[in-house]
Order: sequence, then C-alpha cells, then structure tokens
Amino acid sequence: MKKTKIVCTLGPASSSKQVIEKMFQAGMNGVRINTAYGNLAQYKSDIETVREVADIPIIIDVKGPEIRIKAAQQKVFSKGDIMEIGFDGEEISFNHDFYDEMSVEDEVYIDNGKIRTQVVEKKDRKLRLLTLNSGSIEDGKGVNVPNKHLPVPTFPEKDLEIIRFAKKHDVEYIALSFTRNAEDVRNLSQTNGFEGGIIAKIENSDGVQNVEEILDAASGLMVARGDLAVEIEPEKVPLVQKALIKLCNQKGKLVVTATEMLESMINQPNPTRAEVSDVANAILDGSDAVMLSGETAMGQYPMEAVEMMTRIANETEKAVRSKVEDTSFINISDTISRAIQDICQCMPIHKVIPLTRSGYTARMIARFKIAQPIIAVTPYIKAKKQLELIFGVYPVMINYPDEKNRLLAVTNKLLETHLVDDEDTVLFTEGVRTAIEHASNSIEIHKIKELREFASSSVLTTFW
Ligand code: PGA
Ligand code: MN
Repeated sequence: MKKTKIVCTLGPASSSKQVIEKMFQAGMNGVRINTAYGNLAQYKSDIETVREVADIPIIIDVKGPEIRIKAAQQKVFSKGDIMEIGFDGEEISFNHDFYDEMSVEDEVYIDNGKIRTQVVEKKDRKLRLLTLNSGSIEDGKGVNVPNKHLPVPTFPEKDLEIIRFAKKHDVEYIALSFTRNAEDVRNLSQTNGFEGGIIAKIENSDGVQNVEEILDAASGLMVARGDLAVEIEPEKVPLVQKALIKLCNQKGKLVVTATEMLESMINQPNPTRAEVSDVANAILDGSDAVMLSGETAMGQYPMEAVEMMTRIANETEKAVRSKVEDTSFINISDTISRAIQDICQCMPIHKVIPLTRSGYTARMIARFKIAQPIIAVTPYIKAKKQLELIFGVYPVMINYPDEKNRLLAVTNKLLETHLVDDEDTVLFTEGVRTAIEHASNSIEIHKIKELREFASSSVLTTFW
C-alpha cells in the first residue's frame, strides 16, 4: 500500500468519469478544483463525478487575494511589444485594482513568471507594459508583482459565492491562495462559516513570514511553489519547502507540496530525471501529499502522470524518516503518539489502529512516519475523507459503539474487509472514559486471534 498521497487538479483533460476512475486506480487520493478556471456548473459536475467514483476528499481552491488576468481571448505577443492592461473589464484586465500602487519601472510577472514585463507608462487607469520575452497570455493566468504589498481584499465577491457553494456541497477542504496571515484563514472559518478543513497556500513572503500563526489557524499548508518561486526568488524555495514541511510534521498538520512536479508530462509521456528527483525529495522532506496541476488538468497524459508519481512514491517512501523533534508536553494525544512510535520500533506490530473522531490522533501518529500502516477508524465520513491525504494513513468509516468492547466491534468489521487478519498483532489507541478533544489516552496491543478468542470465552462477562 502506497503511503504518499497524490492530489490531482481537475480540468478539461480530467473531467470525464472515465479519466477520474483511471487516475483513482493509478493512485490518486484526492482532487483539487482550481477556481481560476471554469464555473460553478462545471465544479458541481466535477464534484458529482468524483463522488460517484470514490470516497476521496475534494479541495476547492479559492483564489482569494491572488491577482489574475481576465481576457476574452488568448493574446500572443513578441519580446519588446507594449501590452496595455486595464483594471475594469477591458479586453485584457487584472481582476483586482492596484493601479495607484504601481510606478514606472515596476515589474509585473504573468503565468508563474513565464512572462516578464515592466511598467513603462501609467495612463487612463491602464498600465502599459513592455514585454521582456515573447509568449502568450490567457484568461485566468496568475500575476505577480514581487516585493509590493498590494491592498487586495481576502475575498472578492466571486470567492464569496464559491465559498457558499463549497459549504452547500460540503466539500472536505478549501485551499486558500496567497494566505498572508491568520486573519485570512479566520475570515474563511469564522466570518464565512466554512466548516471543512482549510489548507493555507503559502505563496508569497507574507505567508512565509507569518506561517506559524497561519498554521495555528489552518488544518494544514500547501507549499505553493509556482507562485512562491516568483515572489521570493526560486533559489530560496527548496529550503523554505523543507522548513514548512518540518513545521507541519511537528504539529501533526497536513502538508501538500505542489506545482511543476512532473511538468514536462503535460506534453510528454515521460518526466525528466530532475522532476523525478523533485517528487522524491518532496516525499523525503516529509510531505503528506504531492500534487499534480497542469499535468492532470490540461495535459495529454493525466493517468500516466499519476502512475509515475505512484512509482516514485513506492520506491522512495521506504527511506522516509521522522523529522519531529522532542518538545515539551502539548497534550495527552501528543504523548501517546510518541509512545506509539517507540513501541512500533521495539516490537513487531503489524498495524496501528487509532479510533479517532476528528482525525487528530491519526495525524499525530502519522507525523512520525512509522513503518506500519495506520488504519484510522472514524465514525464520520468527512473525517475519513480528510484523512485520505495524510501520509501512511488508511482511513475507514465505522460507526463503532460507545461502549467498552468497541475494540471487538471494530476488529470484526476490519476482518470483514480484510484490513486485518487473525495473525496480525495490532496496536489500538483510543480515548477511554473521556469526552474531551485530543484525548487518546490508552494503548492496547493484541494479537487479533487472541482478542477474538478471549471475547468469545466466558471470561468476557467477568472482566469486560
Ligand atoms: P496555483 O497554486 O496552482 O493555484 O497557482 C499553486 C502554486 O502557486 O504553486
Ligand atoms: Mn499559486
């Protein structure tokens, strides 16, 4: 069983049920709907198709303060051309108004820095931009204005509509582009009442600087390297990636590494050697999940890209080691998860089975990258789907009873689905005689066969 999780961005190349099914069989564990493109009707149909295929999480990527191009049609240009871009729905315009902040000589990058331009003139609330290379731009492409703090709102009206849509369809996660601080995250959960998980996309220097407070407010992070490389300089990205992943591992929060992972597979059936190493290194750094963007959204080989990631994961993850450092006491679950890591190293345990409501205990154990599969049992479908993205976790939904012998009930269900067998020695952890959060407080180790024999003997009535 593969431990590294794979997120696929949906798009024209992957909206059909057939392709989604194939990508799922190839190892996809979750999908991202990128709202830079498409419309609500398309997102709705994607959600329905995914839910027909599998119980996997859907991430709706809200663009938030991200600046983008709005264009009626594609525009091709040569190096040295002057391009005029407005702010008010002109033929080519920006989606946010930052005219007043701009000065002549400022640089404006488009499409993850592929197109570089410089402001040569400001006139009639339009920017005249000198293109420093040739290329083409089209609707939805991202824009970066490095080193400027532009006063753009967290959520323009279009996003508020998408957030309401995400709530209505009860999606498992929203990814928030260009998260700048914890306030941006709270805006989503408190002001707009979104109840699923929130993945803060770290893609500029504000996000990197405020990452600790952001992570305290969010369910996890995305290392959004496409924009990050343009905003903070590409050579800084590898170490920032390692630092962000380590921080998430330390706190037991989800971390997804994204963008240009197998970029050349958009047009070719095989990746470059450098891309393979990039995916492998993201896994070795401790990512829970790796993400495909253009490769699956609009590439020619969506399924092959997923297959390739699965192959890299299978080969690499054997060497993944915990990066969690010893710190002072956090809570009981944290302590229990540390004990489980020790036990898993000093005796032959086949499977670790946390009974977890929110998924917290499963994540706390998973951050240690233990060799054993973590079969997370939860009574809630949303928690189950959210846990699909966590490294080494295989979530199952079982509506276990609230009584003393629930381990037996869980065991019987897992036997039915062949997730455990009689010869397994398993480690259970659960919260016993407690209702508070984050309180897995017990560890029981059993050989499945003995647990069943014990349960069926008369001793049960006396001792359980
Ligand atoms: P995007 O975000 O694909 O939505 O732009 C990811 C990134 O910038 O890396
Ligand atoms: Mn981005």
